[in-house]
Amino acid sequence: MAALDESVRPRSLADFIGQDELRANLRVYLEAARERGRALDHTIFFGNPGLGKTTLAQIMAAELGVNLVCTSGPVLERSGDLAAILTNLSRNDILFVDEIHRMPVAVEEVLYPAMEDFKLDLVIGQGPAARTVKIDLEPFTLVGATTRMGLISSPLRDRFGIVARLEYYTPRDLARIVERTARILGVAISPDGAEEIGRRSRGTPRIANRLLRRVRDFALVHGHDAITGPQAAEAMQRMDVDPLGLDQMDRRLLEVIIRHYDGGPVGIKTLAVACSEEVRTIEDIYEPYLIQCGFLKRSPRGRMVTAKAYEHLGLLMR
Ligand code: ADP
Repeated sequence: MAALDESVRPRSLADFIGQDELRANLRVYLEAARERGRALDHTIFFGNPGLGKTTLAQIMAAELGVNLVCTSGPVLERSGDLAAILTNLSRNDILFVDEIHRMPVAVEEVLYPAMEDFKLDLVIGQGPAARTVKIDLEPFTLVGATTRMGLISSPLRDRFGIVARLEYYTPRDLARIVERTARILGVAISPDGAEEIGRRSRGTPRIANRLLRRVRDFALVHGHDAITGPQAAEAMQRMDVDPLGLDQMDRRLLEVIIRHYDGGPVGIKTLAVACSEEVRTIEDIYEPYLIQCGFLKRSPRGRMVTAKAYEHLGLLMR
């Protein structure tokens, strides 16, 4: 699975589909950094999982011809972990920190002087004998990725020169992504087949690629040479992915609010318990798309289901 993911990941900006404005801007920043021969400004990408944050970090490193060192917020438990990584970077390298909002505060503080002046303040020893030494670092670019911009502290946020938001992809862009992936995997698919998968991919390339693989399995087992629209629709229906891309869990979430809480408002923690799901998973994976579809609303008193959701589920509003 992971290896397959890597094989279909776009390697250059030209290969990266959609997010047109962001892509055009990045092209300018990359070219400017290349011309100046300087490290690119620190960059933060925010957006839901699977929209291409890691892919963009890899593309930036490839386009600049520098190394990419990857880590993530939860992995950096102690400030020493980060210091070790920073001191090992070569000139203009990119350090990619996924889930940067989950980095401990003590580690974050090491990052400030590193980002600002390419310096590391190391504390050596303990108690009265402790002293601070400054270590020079090679210039580098920090690329952070987060699903939650609101959880990034403002001192950290202010140190990023480039702040870029990844939006949900349009069904059309997703169809193009499906066609590209199908080409790489050697799968034949008709344009309406790609569109059908694109429409049901919740605006997310990672989901589009996953659905394509499963639909391909159905086509293979049923002896179809190429995936058509109706076949794709049937396969996804069997996977319980509806025409808007909602799956069992999305529908369950909406139904729990409707049946147990009269359509809401209900607090996120209560909802998580009622659905046997983690708060973070609901907030990061399910809720953003349901809100985007106009099925769910956030209110100060909790989550509420909209009339549109009742309609989609074929339920009557009380
Ligand atoms: P994130 O880091 O935001 O969770 P990734 O960068 O890992 O997301 O992207 C998930 C998958 O989706 C990748 O394996 C990649 O193949 C695919 N992908 C993401 N963005 C695009 C795009 N713009 N064009 C084509 N494929 C994409």
